[in-house]
Amino acid sequence: MPFLPASYQKISEELSAKQVTLVAVSKTKPNEDILEAYHAGVRDFGENYVQELLAKHESLPKDIRWHFIGHLQRNKVKYIAPFVYLVHGVDSRSLLVELNKQGAKINRRISCLLQVHIAKEETKFGLDENELTGIMDEIAASPENFSHVQVRGLMGMASFTADHEEVRREFAFLRQLFLQCKKRPGIDASFDTLSMGMSGDYPVALSEGSNMVRIGSLLFGERTYS
Ligand SMILES: *Cc1c(COP(=O)(O)O)cnc(C)c1O
Repeated sequence: MPFLPASYQKISEELSAKQVTLVAVSKTKPNEDILEAYHAGVRDFGENYVQELLAKHESLPKDIRWHFIGHLQRNKVKYIAPFVYLVHGVDSRSLLVELNKQGAKINRRISCLLQVHIAKEETKFGLDENELTGIMDEIAASPENFSHVQVRGLMGMASFTADHEEVRREFAFLRQLFLQCKKRPGIDASFDTLSMGMSGDYPVALSEGSNMVRIGSLLFGERTYS
């Protein structure tokens, strides 16, 4: 299914009124679809697979801001480090350390979000509250060890369920963690991003304070694989 300007129009109006950033999730979608969205004004695109992201980054306009939203393996950080705009899925201390290491090599400060596990499903990646606190403590105690990463905020994925109240609780929990982190000593205004909400649950995420949504199928149509 091609990119649907109508749904983009509706979503982007709703989001810009709330100053929420739309990340158009283009994984598995061909360059033509991305260009169609690009010509409609979209500049933020989200991808889950490193190889696919590299190919698209090579061939598409250079002013696209590429968000890596998938699970990132440490040995692949070096490939995307030079250009990735924001890494949403930092789900371990060791991945953050690797991002910092690769950033240092090329003298670039890589922006990232810490991914928190908020869903009931076991399968989704992410830090638990204690791990999050541990990382935040460590950054505060030794900022010099993290000088080539910039933690811009938090990201989370809610349970895949029709139970809106459960989804709401999970997003509310993430927002509360976000606000707690923001208040910590040493955390400055650059910690400003709360990435939550996808095609199926973004209205709930918005009402729970999200300021960045990652929307794929609603814009580009269903994926044949994911
Ligand atoms: C695929 C994906 C999305 C977009 O999902 P849709 O349901 O198609 O909007 C958002 N976030 C992450 C982390 C994803 O992997």
